[in-house]
Amino acid sequence: MNTCNDLHLQNDAKIVSKTIPGEKSIELIKIQNDSEGSIVSYPKSMPIAVKRAKGATIEDVDGNIFIDFFSGAGVLNVGHSNSYVLEYIKEQQEQLIHMLDFPTENKLQLIQKILCQFPEEMRNRYKVSFCGPTGSDAVEAAIKLAKHKTGREGVIAFHGSYHGMTSGSLSVTSNVQLRNRISSLVPNISFVPYSYCYRCPFNKDQETCEMDCADYLNYILNNPHSGQAKPAAILLEPIQGEGGTIIPKRGFLKKVVEIANKHDIIIIFDEIQCGFFRTGDFWGFEDNEVFPHIITMSKGLGGIGFPISAIIYDKNIESWGAGDHIGTFRGNQVSIAAGRGAFDFIEEHNISDHCKKMGIYLLRRLESLKESFPIIGDIRGKGLMLGIEYVQDTVSKTPDSEIVKRIRIESFKRGLLFEIGGHYNNVIRFLPPLTINKDIIDNALSIFEKAHCVSVENSTQQVTY
Ligand code: PMP
Repeated sequence: MNTCNDLHLQNDAKIVSKTIPGEKSIELIKIQNDSEGSIVSYPKSMPIAVKRAKGATIEDVDGNIFIDFFSGAGVLNVGHSNSYVLEYIKEQQEQLIHMLDFPTENKLQLIQKILCQFPEEMRNRYKVSFCGPTGSDAVEAAIKLAKHKTGREGVIAFHGSYHGMTSGSLSVTSNVQLRNRISSLVPNISFVPYSYCYRCPFNKDQETCEMDCADYLNYILNNPHSGQAKPAAILLEPIQGEGGTIIPKRGFLKKVVEIANKHDIIIIFDEIQCGFFRTGDFWGFEDNEVFPHIITMSKGLGGIGFPISAIIYDKNIESWGAGDHIGTFRGNQVSIAAGRGAFDFIEEHNISDHCKKMGIYLLRRLESLKESFPIIGDIRGKGLMLGIEYVQDTVSKTPDSEIVKRIRIESFKRGLLFEIGGHYNNVIRFLPPLTINKDIIDNALSIFEKAHCVSVENSTQQVTY
């Protein structure tokens, strides 16, 4: 598609500084370290100070150009500073910016655009509420609504889950290292196995398994001696993001929803990362023939990085009333306009199909890389949400987070940015803007391949970061 050739600074990376990071970046990072709080994290592994960004490319302050396969943590689905979306923002800024939760045409149009993503016969079943600006706010709201409706405590979440950093959302996030630093989180949270076929906790074969993971959930809910009280909600990502881009076996989501319905438990799908066309479809759960009670959204919904989050929920569970979940910043008008702009851009330029095609192309290229590098244990992806899992060898599948760090550094030095995730920090995660083109993919993958060669060659040297 032609549009996707004009959206970027250029189609390739370009490293012009003598060192990487360059002198100016080093200087600004030093000032940042001295003056900004120590929780700053991304520049620790991608040490650049940024000047500007367009589409799938970022220019740092030293004039280096990087290919961005990270998209601000899966936010920039239509690319950095997409000019089509910028027009919506400019127009909205002139008219209205902040208006609490009063009705505006801008907002009501976005709500309709979201509801129209359901099959026609279901559109009347759902409503939209805007939450605080972050994904974590949407997760908090979803859990609160489930508790409000059921009058019960407790949430069942999944191994490998990531739902945010506020107290409630961290409570349902499985990363032990992050959780253990806080002495008390929200109580009555338990975690059960996700459908992670490459590392099946039940040691089953993906082809023949009958989804013991889902059966286990059913078992603990049925067994009066499981220690599991009936929770308010079961919460899961239809495709796990930070957990390592884990795509559950087909049928898993359906089974989990059936179990939740059987036990009269609210089911929440966290679509914050896998939603808003990331997979090519609007919802990450789209082809699973199920619908949850509550859906959380954020990231891509803000168009080109404007903060916004929402829950979309079944009218039948609407137990709360006016003021039961208030907040000053719920549905900022500019973020909403940006969301509308992204919707229209995606529709007008058929980005859904483009995303699926680019995703298949990228997967195929990665599959051929796997043939040359036995450190690649698994490659998985849907649309442009892809994960590459690294192991010491494909038989033992021992996770190799060291090689991942090395490949990331070598890719960074050559101009390719991406994030790492996974249960063992051994998964490289590609979340490029959906507007990438074949040239950008080819250029990114030639950097990526070179980074593999160099990293494997130097694999005995210590990585320090
Ligand atoms: N849920 C999911 C699935 C996410 O990926 C994230 C962010 N990575 C969140 C919730 C939290 O969103 P935020 O960082 O905006 O609070």
